Amino acid sequence: MDDSLKFIEGLKTRNINLLKSVPKADLHNHFTMGGNKDFIYKKTGKLIRTLSYKLKSMGEMGRWVNENVGDIFKDKEGRKIAIDSCFQQANEDNITVLDIGENVWALDGIYGGDINELVNAFYSSREKYAPYTRLSFQIGLSRYCSVESLLEWSEAFFEQDCFDSIDLYADEFAQPIENFKPLYRKAREKKLILRAHVGEFGSADDVMRAVEELELDEVQHGIAAAKSQKVMNFLSDNKIRLNICPTSNIKLSRVYSYKDHCIRKLFDNGVIVTINSDDVLVFGNSVSQEFLNVYISGLFTAEELNEIRLNGLK
Ligand SMILES: [Zn+2]
Repeated sequence: MDDSLKFIEGLKTRNINLLKSVPKADLHNHFTMGGNKDFIYKKTGKLIRTLSYKLKSMGEMGRWVNENVGDIFKDKEGRKIAIDSCFQQANEDNITVLDIGENVWALDGIYGGDINELVNAFYSSREKYAPYTRLSFQIGLSRYCSVESLLEWSEAFFEQDCFDSIDLYADEFAQPIENFKPLYRKAREKKLILRAHVGEFGSADDVMRAVEELELDEVQHGIAAAKSQKVMNFLSDNKIRLNICPTSNIKLSRVYSYKDHCIRKLFDNGVIVTINSDDVLVFGNSVSQEFLNVYISGLFTAEELNEIRLNGLK
């Protein structure tokens, strides 16, 4: 059976295994929280339970992670387990395009300044655990770091030809978006896919400003855009893709439920959207499960969700 027919059939019959067998992308995945629970349990003996209640802020999420995950991924060996578990998860869910990568601070902080070791940690893991997954290799920037440090640390990354994208995350309000322009100019010169987390806790105007200032190709979350017709038109006209994570949005109290998720409004206004996992270790859902949950809520038809699946693979 053709993949699209299989996917539609999987949704209509609520068959998670059929959904898992169909190629999908995960373009919004923080690999240290993106791994397979069983794999981590086998490797570390640590059983990480799924977040069972709603959080109100990133601060609350940070505390939950400290309590429930702790520091098992903080050294080089732990980091490798996180990467391996992420590819294991991708393989089990047939994620054929996975966009993950390392924080620039980790080059010195974890890999002793050796960029080859960092790059190899990802590629060797992909080869071993998810040979059918294409790694879209990301350069990760945290808003908590100073721009001077980010520029210095990212130099070794920009010298490599293996990176495909750049992303900016952590507290949206940590510093003005304009601060990151020099980094995004460099990334543009390297022809990377330019992404940033914005419009999760921030406003529709924040989304538009970030896209304009950093010349973004895609936005991680960006759901606040649904509050402004002007911003939705802008995203649609400029073909800016939003990589959305429904369960994360619910558990971080950004939207009330799947049924109420503004991804529907964005889709109806011509904005290109995808469905992704964000932090599967915390929120508990594979990409297949995300699609199924959204389908069961009645928000989209199976055919529309297949269109969204294909958006991620383009
Ligand atoms: Zn995220």
